[in-house]
Amino acid sequence: MTRPIYDLIIVGAGMAGASLAIALRNSNLKIALVEATEMRTHSQPSYDDRGIALTYGSQRIFETMGIWSKIQDHTTAIKTIHVSDRGHFGVTRLSAEHEKVPALGQVITAKILGQTLNEQLSTQENLDIICPVTVSSVQPHDDSVSLTLTNNEMLTTRLLVAADGRDSTIRHYLDMTSSEQQYGQVAVTANVTTDQAHKGMAYERFTASGPLALLPLSSDRSSLVWTVKTGEEDELLSLSDEDFLTTLQQAFGYRAGRFIKVGQRQSYPLTMMQADNPVHDRVVLIGNAAHSLHPIAGQGFNLGLRDVAVLAEQIFNANDCGNAAVLADYQHWRQADQDDVVKSTDRLVKLFSNNISLIAHGRSAGLAIMDCLPMLKHQLAQKSMGMSQHHPKLSRGIPLS
Ligand SMILES: Cc1cc2nc3c(=O)[nH]c(=O)nc-3n(C[C@H](O)[C@H](O)[C@H](O)COP(=O)(O)OP(=O)(O)OC[C@H]3O[C@@H](n4cnc5c(N)ncnc54)[C@H](O)[C@@H]3O)c2cc1C
Repeated sequence: MTRPIYDLIIVGAGMAGASLAIALRNSNLKIALVEATEMRTHSQPSYDDRGIALTYGSQRIFETMGIWSKIQDHTTAIKTIHVSDRGHFGVTRLSAEHEKVPALGQVITAKILGQTLNEQLSTQENLDIICPVTVSSVQPHDDSVSLTLTNNEMLTTRLLVAADGRDSTIRHYLDMTSSEQQYGQVAVTANVTTDQAHKGMAYERFTASGPLALLPLSSDRSSLVWTVKTGEEDELLSLSDEDFLTTLQQAFGYRAGRFIKVGQRQSYPLTMMQADNPVHDRVVLIGNAAHSLHPIAGQGFNLGLRDVAVLAEQIFNANDCGNAAVLADYQHWRQADQDDVVKSTDRLVKLFSNNISLIAHGRSAGLAIMDCLPMLKHQLAQKSMGMSQHHPKLSRGIPLS
């Protein structure tokens, strides 16, 4: 088959790549989405049962894109975030009521979000979905980029967006350098049920084995992300459900009630990666391909969705969407937010993974002091809601046209 010259090829149809294609639904751009797996959520590795916390900023973006109304019934509002340090006195609470917003964030399973994005993509007229296939080579030229796929098909585009995740092959092919941190930690995830209703409460608890987060989910379940040292995950994964619940209870305490049920457990090695420059000749990295974060603050996809909102606005009406000036403007707009979220997440991981007594006392004193300082708490809440940067149109409720 002879393919046209595309305006935009997106490699990777995870949450970031799919969202970008949908944000450009009403544009005149001719788009191709190239994905390694079948576009069915049970085949796509990122669309498992994990809870994804969406900030208020992400909710606004999805509302403007027409996605929110389709997922709303499956989301659970975070009314309060309770941050504590097991064995130390510091506790702080961030509340929606205090911030005068209906919710601090909304939680949805990656699977349901993925299903909705896939349904939306399947009806999009300016889009060719090419899957399951990967890219075997990339060649940027002055006015286009050519790609060869593993089925030997050749494609040409004005702009190539790599949304192919943390181990982005496009980033590697183009020798785009990145900074990486190995945390020596693994996240063990599962959905759990307690004998008390969660009432919209999210918990971030710092335990001796590592940070442990619970996000409120539908059907009164909570989504658990338990960070442990690499190697320790094997035991947690191999325990019977009953023993896992007992071990979890010991680590977390009884603040959320008694843990009575656990779903399927998964594990994810945790690293930080940030591309030194996410823009190359006619190529942009977005989402995890540009920056991949520890999930401690639940900011990874929220940051990626802000990449999507800004890039979609920059290229929606551009004559040549791969033009160097367009891409430079994009990165100029995104840089501060990307650096800020990557650095603050990294600081949080280091602070809360450290058990040296002085640091542990310092951080619990920090939590206790913050609880008494409304302004600091307000700033933290604004950040966790994704509200503290210069907003693109989609986050201000203005459709792209
Ligand atoms: C335990 C855990 C909890 C998390 N919780 C939150 C949270 O609460 N809130 C939040 O905002 N974020 C959270 N995140 C982060 C979030 O999951 C990621 O930021 C998000 O999934 C990244 O999406 P992406 O589309 O950029 O990349 P990916 O999800 O990695 O998608 C990449 C896609 O590209 C495809 N692909 C890969 N290589 C190729 C290739 N060569 N050719 C074609 N296709 C290719 C893959 O099949 C995949 O579909 C969490 C992450 C973890 C691990």
